[in-house]
Amino acid sequence: MKYDTIIIGAGPAGIAAAIYLKRAGRKICVIERKRVGGLLHNAHHVENYPGFHGVKGKELAGHMKGQLHKWNIEIVHETATVILEKDSGFRIVTPDNERFARTVVLATGTIPKKLDIEGAVEMEGVHLFYEVADLPELADGKDVVVIGSGDAAFDYALNLSEQEASVIITFRGENPRCLSLLSERVKADPSIQIYPDFHPVSFRSHNGRIVMKCHHIDIEADYVLGAIGRVPEDRLLADFKEVPAGLFVAGDVQQGKCRQVGIAVGDGISSAMQILDYLEASD
Ligand SMILES: Cc1cc2nc3c(=O)[nH]c(=O)nc-3n(C[C@H](O)[C@H](O)[C@H](O)COP(=O)(O)OP(=O)(O)OC[C@H]3O[C@@H](n4cnc5c(N)ncnc54)[C@H](O)[C@@H]3O)c2cc1C
Repeated sequence: MKYDTIIIGAGPAGIAAAIYLKRAGRKICVIERKRVGGLLHNAHHVENYPGFHGVKGKELAGHMKGQLHKWNIEIVHETATVILEKDSGFRIVTPDNERFARTVVLATGTIPKKLDIEGAVEMEGVHLFYEVADLPELADGKDVVVIGSGDAAFDYALNLSEQEASVIITFRGENPRCLSLLSERVKADPSIQIYPDFHPVSFRSHNGRIVMKCHHIDIEADYVLGAIGRVPEDRLLADFKEVPAGLFVAGDVQQGKCRQVGIAVGDGISSAMQILDYLEASD
């Protein structure tokens, strides 16, 4: 069976594309490797998406997921590993399946930059994480160190504090690089301490916790959350010299610094509209 479009990634960009194409009567499938809603699951409060005065990222993701279900859109929870051009269309491969489509929307977002620090690889997934949504249950007031000085690090700290964690934010340099609104909220929060000019050197485990060695002090915690930036998840494009006709790229995976829900949604819709023209021309 051949789909009109396969959408890889069910973040805001992929979801917006899927809804648009389904309403236009196209046969589509969404492939998502993790959570429907994508990076929104990491966003504490989204206050700049029109129509919502302030909504938790998870809640907004839930609304989007509900919309996919309302339109009966097929979602498969698999990881797309390869895209191949085939018979004037594409073959999309996952570990257990392959599917064929006339067009593809690549809406794979971004992946976190990893900390290049001794012990980081060994600690990852146990005491060291890169997305707040991946942290284990935070009941009983856990201690969490957030590394990073940007919007995501400060957003994570506020999120964790609301879940009754005690939070330390550490970063290199004297001043944070986040929105002043976020740093003011963090400064006003008694559960969050800010340690500027910190240089982590190594991680090790100790009595079921993690010890972060810095130049002049060791910090012990239940978890460390790295938030030092993200890079586009464009590995599925690596085999193409240039993006082939019929393959459309949408959302954070291509937006450089402009990574926002509204932009991703608009981008997904724009891709879907271009796909309809493309499909109609070859129907
Ligand atoms: C802490 C934080 C707070 C934020 N707060 C705001 C805010 O207040 N306002 C705002 O506008 N924006 C905010 N953002 C940004 C916003 O979340 C993103 O811009 C938006 O989610 C991007 O949507 P997307 O669909 O392009 O990508 P994503 O949401 O990243 O979705 C991509 C999806 O693709 C999936 N995927 C990737 N590769 C594959 C594969 N090979 N196979 C299958 N699936 C795959 C991923 O699992 C993911 O679900 C925030 C981000 C963070 C981290």
